[in-house]
Amino acid sequence: MRFSNLHQHTTFSDGKNTAEEIVLSAIERGMESIGFSDHSHTKIDESYCMLPSDIVAYHKEIDRLKEKYASQIKIFKGIELDYYSTVDRKDYDYIIASIHYLYDGKRFYAIDHTIEHQLDYIKDYCNGDKNILAKDYYDLLIKHVKNCKPDFIGHVDVITKFGVYDEDNEKYKEIAKNAVREMIKYCNVFEMNTGAISRKKRTLPYPERFLLEEILSLGGEIVISADSHASDTVDFYFKECVEILKDVGFKYFLKFDGEKFYKEYI
Ligand SMILES: [Zn+2]
Ligand SMILES: [Zn+2]
Repeated sequence: MRFSNLHQHTTFSDGKNTAEEIVLSAIERGMESIGFSDHSHTKIDESYCMLPSDIVAYHKEIDRLKEKYASQIKIFKGIELDYYSTVDRKDYDYIIASIHYLYDGKRFYAIDHTIEHQLDYIKDYCNGDKNILAKDYYDLLIKHVKNCKPDFIGHVDVITKFGVYDEDNEKYKEIAKNAVREMIKYCNVFEMNTGAISRKKRTLPYPERFLLEEILSLGGEIVISADSHASDTVDFYFKECVEILKDVGFKYFLKFDGEKFYKEYI
């Protein structure tokens, strides 16, 4: 089975390697395709994302690599679109919709960055109730998905990154499942994201198993992606993801041909 990764960061945003280094690594690993998805520009926090000038260079470089390596690997140009960004979607082969912030107009809380940001939000806005953060996060993600109608939804339960939500937190599970039920009306493709495993923050991919089961029961589909920030993690934990998907009951996952998804049966 040949893999594809559509969630890849480079030095154009917060990745460690250049786009060309990543292409060479993907070719070496025998991958079928690689899609770049650097972070869209967010005015509220420019520390991790592409600046407008980077975006011009990003287009030029990915177009150059598409041409240079055309005989060896398929290359796609996507973007990881945050809620606090706007892009012209015709400039990209695909769009990933992700939430990285809760923002009150003055201060941003980078909910996937450190646990302190999550704990501060829970203190400042939730009277200590972490499930309120979950509700606020999922409501914003639903709004984002509804507005931008992405090709797929990024790290759907990223707020579980730091272990704030215990396995027996039924209220959290209900909030997350309700959110999936709502957003699937606008986009039925979710990514299985291994980025937090390669960065040693989690031992299993997003989404958690109960959400995978929910997605399957609603007819949702899965694309496996690495959310990779380096050239050595472009297909990290993909074989294991296939096993998890099979175990949950999925019969296939999705791959991308540059215009649309197609099924890879497992
Ligand atoms: Zn992200
Ligand atoms: Zn990412």
